[in-house]
Amino acid sequence: MKRPSLNLACYGIVCVIVSFAIGPLLFFFGLCKCAESEYWLWSGINSIPAIVLSLLLCLFVINSQERLSRKKLSLLLLGFYFLSFLDLTFWLWFHPQKRISHFVFGFLHGPIYDRYLPIDMGIIYHRAAHFFLGLGILYSYLARFYLVKDSQVKNYGGLSLDGSWNHVKMRFLPLGLLFCYFISAGLASQYPSVGQGASHLKEVLPETYEEELFAVHYIKGKDDKYVKAARNLVLESRFHLLELIRILELPHPSKVQIYAYPSSLTKKLAFGGGGTDVTDVYTPSIHIQLTSQIYRTLRHELVHALGSDFGFHGLGFHPNMALTEGLAVALAPELRTPDLHEGSYELIKSNKIGSIEDLFSPFFWKVAGARSYTISGSLVSYLLESYGSHGLKRLYAGDSFLQAYKMSTEQIIDDWKQFISEKSQGKENTILAEAIYRSPGTLYERCTHSKPVLRKNAMKADALFSRCSEI
Ligand SMILES: [Zn+2]
Repeated sequence: MKRPSLNLACYGIVCVIVSFAIGPLLFFFGLCKCAESEYWLWSGINSIPAIVLSLLLCLFVINSQERLSRKKLSLLLLGFYFLSFLDLTFWLWFHPQKRISHFVFGFLHGPIYDRYLPIDMGIIYHRAAHFFLGLGILYSYLARFYLVKDSQVKNYGGLSLDGSWNHVKMRFLPLGLLFCYFISAGLASQYPSVGQGASHLKEVLPETYEEELFAVHYIKGKDDKYVKAARNLVLESRFHLLELIRILELPHPSKVQIYAYPSSLTKKLAFGGGGTDVTDVYTPSIHIQLTSQIYRTLRHELVHALGSDFGFHGLGFHPNMALTEGLAVALAPELRTPDLHEGSYELIKSNKIGSIEDLFSPFFWKVAGARSYTISGSLVSYLLESYGSHGLKRLYAGDSFLQAYKMSTEQIIDDWKQFISEKSQGKENTILAEAIYRSPGTLYERCTHSKPVLRKNAMKADALFSRCSEI
């Protein structure tokens, strides 16, 4: 078999330079306003093991060009990424955690809405384990071509005359790398930020209280405030579940697992969503931070969990997020002025929403959460009030508006517009609505990694400005 040229090392070096140069170039030309320190930290954690893997793939492709056709090679590579993606989806779908540290895709922290991304040694150890594993495979691959028996060549300090590596000196390298892999992976497993599955959450929240409709997972005897909050959580969950099951007319609802974390930090590391609440529709489970306040999002998340019983052809939710979020907002509305219908009326009046049809498409993410949730919540609430839960459940299960209501989408949207206009007559909400719906949307926001650093800088600048203005 022909050996790959040692010049291939140059490919690796170019890969490293290019991958690390993109960020500084964007910063230099002012194209990215994110925090530079966070860029280096996270690209280090994610890119260094990834570069080893990409180098391995690169060597494989170049070395296989003579044996395999271009088509076969492309299929092999595509197959590799497809299987890796399936593996990633498997872990995220069938386990409650919505964050993952993956060999190919790196560390994915979970919801993009979060304002703060904590990091612990578990994430670093796990990525280090990936690095050692990648290096081990890379070494073994290269060894097939470069290692020759000692007697065949004259050795000079580990490198033979013809560029081959000294077999004796390198013999222990794979064992060493394997050892480093197991040590790093073992160390990582001690931390809550690594590992998928309910059993890992059990290590963080070992106690369970169970009823017919739900189970609450918590920590026993943490402090009085936490225990009191846990008791309230049980009462509120029971109340909301009974009411929601009645409204939605669900004869055999799935048991909802409720994970009650003591802090947003524990929740972000162990589950993936910190400030953002995410429902896992497969288990189904909801994850909330236990505070003494009334659980603003509890009912909202319970709707998502119950909705998993009749979500889009067994998917557990509706891929059209306007419907998924609309259902939760409609059944768990916040008490505020303007309410959902008045808010929607103001949004349409002030042209802050564009086309309503856009909302029921992937463009949902272009619209600010406060705006899109209000509109979809108002529309779903209107459907529920006017036609009951049957049609709504059919819509959520994947039927079109026409199949579920025997009316076209345009007709329903027109009727709804008429309805909210009548509801909002004589109410003056313009200024309030402007304040509530000011933010332009998630896709237009800064990268989450940067938010805490930029916020700190903004506070420093603000303090400096105050001092300057005093002088
Ligand atoms: Zn939601």
